[in-house]
Amino acid sequence: MKNKLLITFVIIFVIRPVLGFTILIDPGHGGEDDGARGRYYFAKKKWRLIKEKDIALSLSKKIHEQLQKKGFSSYLTRSVDRSVSLAERAEIAEKIEADLFISVHINSSDKSSPRGFETYYLDNHDDSAVKKVEQVENKDLKGEELIINKILTDLVISRTVTSSKGLATSIHARIHDKVGKKYKMKDRGVKPGLFYVLALTKRPAILLEVGFLSNSKELAKMLKDDLQDSYALAVADGIQDYLKKQTKIEPSLL
Ligand SMILES: [Zn+2]
Repeated sequence: MKNKLLITFVIIFVIRPVLGFTILIDPGHGGEDDGARGRYYFAKKKWRLIKEKDIALSLSKKIHEQLQKKGFSSYLTRSVDRSVSLAERAEIAEKIEADLFISVHINSSDKSSPRGFETYYLDNHDDSAVKKVEQVENKDLKGEELIINKILTDLVISRTVTSSKGLATSIHARIHDKVGKKYKMKDRGVKPGLFYVLALTKRPAILLEVGFLSNSKELAKMLKDDLQDSYALAVADGIQDYLKKQTKIEPSLL
């Protein structure tokens, strides 16, 4: 009898909120859009070209697997190397009725020294460094920067900013603990950014910049399965942390 009660309790209060939650993972770029490019040196003067779209896909698949392991309903905007416009990514979020949207990107700079991970949520700001990142990520397939209605964007911000910032903070804290310390990656913080893929999805959403492709040491780290596995688990744990706060379920049960 006691067991039966416990099972009922687990189904109603633990499994249901997790299973009822749909998360869409969005590997940045794809197909004809490589995203950023970097050189991975495997010997002196010998290098291999690495594309942002490939690391983003590999990492996104790992996040997707971790979420499924935890019992979440998880989807990918692309599971192969194909072109997907920013609007199409938002349409997929609409179609599967995603509760959360996580876009995965790799940063790049024209200098080789910048390094570290950052987490963005949709909001207005006045940071010129962030504007540079936006310019890169807001380009659609043809390489043109999208123009999005400012009034609509402001409306989406007002509706989602509290949730998105909370989600970004929870995930970032886990990345800090599980990846930043272990792999000595610099914590560049949680930041507001005007990323159109986030505005278009019209739901709580974040954009991850995992590290810098333009920094050869960091690129070598990001290519390692071990780092990617830790990063994926950190994101999944961060989502779980965020949901615990939302559903007010006893933390030890989730
Ligand atoms: Zn990108």
